[in-house]
Amino acid sequence: MAYETLTQYTAACYTSGRPYGITSITIHWWDDPSRHPTFEGAISTFTSGSRRTSAHYVAEAGRVACLVDPDDRAWACGDGVGRNSGGNDRSISIECNPRQSDGDYETIGELIRDLRGVYGDLPLHPHRHWTSTDCPGTYDLDRLDRIARGSAPAESAPRPETTAPTVLEVDGSCGPLTIRRWQEVMGTSVDGKISGQLVPDCRTYWRPALVDSCVTYGGYGSELIRRVQAQLGQGQDGLLGPGTIRAIQAHLGVAQDASFGPATVRALQTRLNENRF
Ligand SMILES: [Zn+2]
Repeated sequence: MAYETLTQYTAACYTSGRPYGITSITIHWWDDPSRHPTFEGAISTFTSGSRRTSAHYVAEAGRVACLVDPDDRAWACGDGVGRNSGGNDRSISIECNPRQSDGDYETIGELIRDLRGVYGDLPLHPHRHWTSTDCPGTYDLDRLDRIARGSAPAESAPRPETTAPTVLEVDGSCGPLTIRRWQEVMGTSVDGKISGQLVPDCRTYWRPALVDSCVTYGGYGSELIRRVQAQLGQGQDGLLGPGTIRAIQAHLGVAQDASFGPATVRALQTRLNENRF
């Protein structure tokens, strides 16, 4: 998998040159995931200079924006510039999407591999290595390092193409098998879960057919639902909320009542058994 590189953005704040060399890569996350931060939002924070900060790269699944040339110094680590500081003066900073999808890890791992190809075998540090901060939250730097070294765990590897697709029972219950099949058809990572959701208010929308153990919460959204929203021309917040449920229902040709219930799921299962959504 290769990522798209975006070079049309330039950070407002940085310092030219690398008089002390480059000796590490620093991993950041660009905001708390509960605030639904976006790739574009992270870029505009740095291009506007509103926080007097910057980073060399803003990265998420499939795309990497370079805002500061790695041969210049970004204002990323909070440990000063121009006095041989480890973070700002000598590190390359990558701001990562805090949702931490498998795709995010893949792309950031590839970026690290590419940077090491140019600058040598640089170690990874979390931002908190340089200054007192929570950044980068729960990011797993060992996993990034394994991907960069080409030994990613098998859990995120695609399943062999020779495996026959599961035929779903059309029972109107959206459990792990249905979600896995939906993920396979949509081409996302496959874990049988819809992650990062909000609890339905059961007033404007419901999800009675979705099996509890297949949902995780946090509001940062699901890769699967983002892919579905992209296909249906919806805003891509990754949340199975009222607008998205209605759009799915319209797409499947069932009543648009904002309830992700058995009738909707039976229509979904029928489509998935035809190997399409
Ligand atoms: Zn940071």
